[in-house]
Amino acid sequence: MKERIPCEIIQDLLPLYIDGLTQDKTNEYIREHLNSCEICKNKYNNMTDKIRNEEKEKEIFPEIDYLKKVKKKNQKKVVFSALASFAILIAIVLSKLYVFGFPITDYHTQMSVAEQNAEIKGQIYNPSYVYSHYKIKNGNIIIYGCLSSVWNKNQDFLINYDCSYGNININRETITSSGKVITALANKLYSIRNPYIGDMPANGEISEALGICKNLGNYTNSLQTTKEPYGWTLEFTGNVTKFNETKFNSTMQSYACVLLAMIDNCGEISWNYVCDGKLCTKTFTAEDAKQITGNDIKSYSSSSENVQNLLNLVNIK
Ligand SMILES: [Zn+2]
Repeated sequence: MKERIPCEIIQDLLPLYIDGLTQDKTNEYIREHLNSCEICKNKYNNMTDKIRNEEKEKEIFPEIDYLKKVKKKNQKKVVFSALASFAILIAIVLSKLYVFGFPITDYHTQMSVAEQNAEIKGQIYNPSYVYSHYKIKNGNIIIYGCLSSVWNKNQDFLINYDCSYGNININRETITSSGKVITALANKLYSIRNPYIGDMPANGEISEALGICKNLGNYTNSLQTTKEPYGWTLEFTGNVTKFNETKFNSTMQSYACVLLAMIDNCGEISWNYVCDGKLCTKTFTAEDAKQITGNDIKSYSSSSENVQNLLNLVNIK
């Protein structure tokens, strides 16, 4: 009978046997032993099972691994594009707020025209905004302001405009193609000129634009429209001192010129006031206005440029 090989030796040889590295004769001994020894047979089965499982895993896992990679990649893509959209949105909002800005109206302007070149100096007075740029649209210069930032703290601007391109409006003022500046007041007066003296709210709007009440004090109104020349009387309620009387009357005379020009069928402007306890009344007619200005007073309301000429003549700014 063959000598039985000890289990320890067989078990040491099993890994080599499974890997096919043992010689035929050795294989024969091992097989014989395994057939007769339950313990080594079990060890052998365990080892081959384990190897088979590992191989199976290798077959399955590459796919899982691949799927995992794809999923991760897609997730990354989604997150990236969401972040990118968000970043773009933020960039648009920030550049709108800090670079391109938006049209603003809180600024002063000072114009000077030499030859055909208008120089418009401006300053934004809202402390939150700085100057961004300007655009010309439909004959208007539109000023864009943006929020103050590290790279832009400038509230001043300077625009050069060639008048020969045509009339241009900025800040309610106009520079004409002939290089004249029409103030906001002249533009305003031209836009609210009134054909009928009987329209008291329209008269009031003109006097409000001129600042009569602000400069000369409160007054009540009375109209004379029963027979021509139609007239408007401003009855000042406050006292005028002797010292101020001359200036008061000359200022009111300037206003009267403008009222006569702006209210078509108004033939005379009167005003009364109390000075040194006496009631004084002054009347200024369209004919008087013609004497002062040199032209039919009504002709000054034919264009905003003519309104401006009148304001210059009577020294109203
Ligand atoms: Zn054995």
